[in-house]
Amino acid sequence: MASHEPSFKDSVDLMFDRAVATLDLPPGLADQIKINNNIYMVRFFVKLRDSYRIFTGWRSVHSEHRLPVKGGIRYAPTVNQDDVEALAALMTYKCAIVDVPFGGAKGGLCIDPRKYNEHELELITRRFAQELIKKGYINPALNVPAPDMGTGEREMAWIADTYRSLHPEDINAIACTTGKPFSQGGIQGRVEATGRGVFYGIKEFFNNSEDVKNAGLEGNLEGKRIIVQGLGNVGFHATKYLEEEGDARIIGIIEREGAILSEKGFSIEEVAAYRAECGSLEHFPGARYVANGKKLLEAECDVLIPAAIEGQITLENARRIKAPVIAEAANGPITYMADNVLREAGKTIIPDAYLNAGGVTVSYFEWIKNLSHIRFGRLDRRHEAHRGAQIINALEEMIGKPVPDHLKARLSYGSDELDLVRSGLEDTMSTAYQTMSEIHKSRDNVPDLRTAAFVIAIEKIARAYIEMGL
Ligand code: NAD
Repeated sequence: MASHEPSFKDSVDLMFDRAVATLDLPPGLADQIKINNNIYMVRFFVKLRDSYRIFTGWRSVHSEHRLPVKGGIRYAPTVNQDDVEALAALMTYKCAIVDVPFGGAKGGLCIDPRKYNEHELELITRRFAQELIKKGYINPALNVPAPDMGTGEREMAWIADTYRSLHPEDINAIACTTGKPFSQGGIQGRVEATGRGVFYGIKEFFNNSEDVKNAGLEGNLEGKRIIVQGLGNVGFHATKYLEEEGDARIIGIIEREGAILSEKGFSIEEVAAYRAECGSLEHFPGARYVANGKKLLEAECDVLIPAAIEGQITLENARRIKAPVIAEAANGPITYMADNVLREAGKTIIPDAYLNAGGVTVSYFEWIKNLSHIRFGRLDRRHEAHRGAQIINALEEMIGKPVPDHLKARLSYGSDELDLVRSGLEDTMSTAYQTMSEIHKSRDNVPDLRTAAFVIAIEKIARAYIEMGL
């Protein structure tokens, strides 16, 4: 990122300020909402390969207007305090936008996970978790991490197990992290949740013909040309569902080593399998390879999905972006300055604080499942199926002929956990998009979806503070 651009945290704060300027809040309240409440930095060592290795990590709590606070833990060699604070702030706004009753937090460990084996990563993760647990920065009632870049189910299981061994008396111990493996208290559909939420968000945009027309496009998702940056958890799942359920065409894929392009469109499963086997996108059959992958952000397409890391569209390349719609699946992929350029150029940006909220939404479902100690659907699935069978019998009696088998199967089906999670996620993403779009269209001083998303969050958090009397 160019050095004269604001940092990630300053970028988020400037976007916040832009939205606050459209509101009339009591003096001082906007600052209280904006500031990070606290941050814990820890240095610890782990003995590995016969030497002592020092690691540095952070856990930032941005807002405690709701508890617990929620936010992923990121493992990356570039993680720093500014990033962690920016991501914690985004978590606060994200939860408010999709009505998930949590405050915002984020954690980071400065490490390149690819340089350690599984056993070493377990030692490091458990030690980091111990340090955070000792200070109350991991706790099912107060502070609940989830996966982010460089972490996944495995790390969440190690952290939860570390917490449980230190607090065996806590009956809700397992709710101290979300994004766990299913057999360790996780929930169906969590791994795919952020990407699936991105798909629902983009689908909802295309359901809104006025927004589609304002972006200079027409029609629905079918056949739309999509370029994605990042084929990790979020990028892979978002494009998989866009391709499989939305009938969109994924024409470009950008990864660390380069990018591939094909007007025919890719099968994401095939590309991901190829990259997993060969370690690179280069030589993927039938595709054009571009060694300077980032250049493909500037290629012609209908929807550009940055789903890798922050700071990818900056003052340096913003003017060359051709996509009319940019769907921010990653956190902070567009800097504040680039955002201004894109807005002036009339681009539609579906903002990160809304679009990637699917992960925290399903994390909320997992947390509730853990606190209630029962899987969703366990009590009512069979009951629902029986009720469906009764309706079929009644129908057959009334009309005097059998209901066709395909309808019978659908009517007598009882929803399982995955159905319920997907339904809750789709409803959450659709409702939040509609509110965001409505605010943008109905208020003259809210010129874009990002400002609308911030306005929704700020109004809700302000109300919470005012009602609490603080
Ligand atoms: P991930 O580590 O699974 O995947 C990131 C992918 O991006 C990797 O394939 C990596 O090789 C690629 N990448 C990294 N730098 C790149 C670069 N410069 N150019 C091209 N590709 C690059 O991470 P993820 O969980 O998919 O997260 C991606 C983004 O989504 C992050 O901004 C994260 O904060 C955000 N996010 C993730 C979740 C979640 O549930 N995992 C939830 C909300 C937001």
